[in-house]
Amino acid sequence: MKERIEKLGAQFNEALSGITDTEALENLRLQFMSKKGYISELMKELGKVPNEQKKEVGQTINTFKQEITELFEKKKDELIRLQEEILIQGAESYDESLPTEDPTGSYHPITLVQRELEDIFESMGFDIEDYTEVVTDFECFEAVNIPPFHPARDMQDTYYLSTANQLLKSHTSAAQNAILRKYGDALKKDGRPIRAVFPGRCFRNEAVDASHDNTFFQMEGMMVDKDISISNLIYFMKTMLSEVFGREVTVRLRPGFFPFVEPGFELDIKCLNCGGTGCPSCGNSGWLELCPCGMIHPNVLKLGGINTDEDPFEYTGFAFGLGLTRLAMMKYGVKDIRTFNDGDLSALSQFTSR
Ligand SMILES: [Zn+2]
Repeated sequence: MKERIEKLGAQFNEALSGITDTEALENLRLQFMSKKGYISELMKELGKVPNEQKKEVGQTINTFKQEITELFEKKKDELIRLQEEILIQGAESYDESLPTEDPTGSYHPITLVQRELEDIFESMGFDIEDYTEVVTDFECFEAVNIPPFHPARDMQDTYYLSTANQLLKSHTSAAQNAILRKYGDALKKDGRPIRAVFPGRCFRNEAVDASHDNTFFQMEGMMVDKDISISNLIYFMKTMLSEVFGREVTVRLRPGFFPFVEPGFELDIKCLNCGGTGCPSCGNSGWLELCPCGMIHPNVLKLGGINTDEDPFEYTGFAFGLGLTRLAMMKYGVKDIRTFNDGDLSALSQFTSR
């Protein structure tokens, strides 16, 4: 019996030294330690050993089992370490100066328009804010003065998640409350005006056609301080849009209804194509409807923790919404809104990247 164990030990050592991968190691383990392996065989044979030797032989088998288990674990660690080293060496030998055969890709036209606008707003002292696409009913509607059963909700049917109270935001205004809360302290303690723009992907349950899509991009902005008036709004919008289009623009305001502003406006710019005389791209009206804006509704400022019931007009501000998708269509002459989301690289990759 002892000889047999010694022989098996030598056999194990020899096999182990020749093993270079974990699969072969596992096979060796099964050969010795599985139910039908050598160790089990030895245990069976132990039954035939005379009683007075049983204890000693039993211990020898156990010691043998322990020894090969330890050797096995040691080898396993070694192999894993070796594999890691090979991986690391492989990574180090990668030559990043080699020219690539794959094209490096390009930015999406909406990304390009968004970055351009962000640069303009940053230069005007605005903070750029990001916000989630999944929001609560409160953030998307109630916080911006659209209570349950308000008819304005009909125009903003969106996608509701099965998780209670969550939905895909139907407009970037869903971030207003969070941004008022984030910058409200600095406004009230240090007198730092709130100036923020927040671009984002929005969703509506729309019938899709060339000018409507269920997924689109907006960029919304807010400015809140003491004594902000409609004249500030008009001056700011004119300056901002002149920057955006790279030339002087003429603006006009028409009354418009948006629950989160009061008063609310539709802002038009004089057609850049025809200069106001009328052409097909402005529907011969001479004006292009561009962005909704208005003075932030007192309820929105109150829910955002800016004003109190005692003084609901301590701080005032304006808000505006830019359709990034719409601007990208205008800028790049894209006729069909679906181009932006259908993933056709031949269409999307032709714009300059930066
Ligand atoms: Zn025109």
